[in-house]
Amino acid sequence: MPAAYYDDDGNWVKQCTKCKEVLSVDNYYQTPEGMGDGFQSRCRPCILAHNKEHNRRRNKKRKQKTYKLTNKQVAWIKEQKGKLSIRVTAKEFSKKFWAIKVNPSTVQRIFAGKIHSDAGEADTVSIYDLLEGASQFSGSVEEYIDSTDTKKVKY
Ligand SMILES: [Zn+2]
Repeated sequence: MPAAYYDDDGNWVKQCTKCKEVLSVDNYYQTPEGMGDGFQSRCRPCILAHNKEHNRRRNKKRKQKTYKLTNKQVAWIKEQKGKLSIRVTAKEFSKKFWAIKVNPSTVQRIFAGKIHSDAGEADTVSIYDLLEGASQFSGSVEEYIDSTDTKKVKY
């Protein structure tokens, strides 16, 4: 990696390994304990742009990650109804289940019976699951229907 040097005008400069710009060294962050020539190999704007992109991707990933609650977790949330507030339930949940976060609005909807309302839900198939399954099923429609317990279908 190119080290910092004095250019023809006597400026202390360094070429960024990323954008290839030759910039004065005050455009570089210093390395811990003055490693190498004492400056990072990438200029500040490149490092900032990199960090920004990294954070953006990480935040996007976090947002996309939806966690499906297990029956045990849902049961635990239901037990808290009338004992704990929604907010406290969500907080206690992440303590009990190892940093898995549950959204207070999810707790609210569970308390209100809007989601995970019947205990036998795990044993039922939603119409969406059914359609999804059908698209993957290689047999005939009749065979597919025969392969599914229609009593369990929830519309
Ligand atoms: Zn750069």
